[in-house]
Amino acid sequence: MNNYCFYCDKTTDHKIKFEPEIFNVLNKAKIEVVSIISICKICNNQNSNPVLDNENLLKAFRKYEEKYGRMPKHNELFKSK
Ligand SMILES: [Zn+2]
Repeated sequence: MNNYCFYCDKTTDHKIKFEPEIFNVLNKAKIEVVSIISICKICNNQNSNPVLDNENLLKAFRKYEEKYGRMPKHNELFKSK
């Protein structure tokens, strides 16, 4: 998969990796999802990818809905740093 690598400063071939990621909901509830991340095959660094990032966020939204019976508002869900 091609993705822009900020470390190589060019578009490179990336591999897909699955990694647990925590999202905070208004700093109270924690939602853990297995996120898809993009790793540069040249330098092995992780790079963000808008499509995957959006997909991961959607996963967190769905998991929140399963747990609390409603979708969180967009300003309620934060990626844990
Ligand atoms: Zn790279």
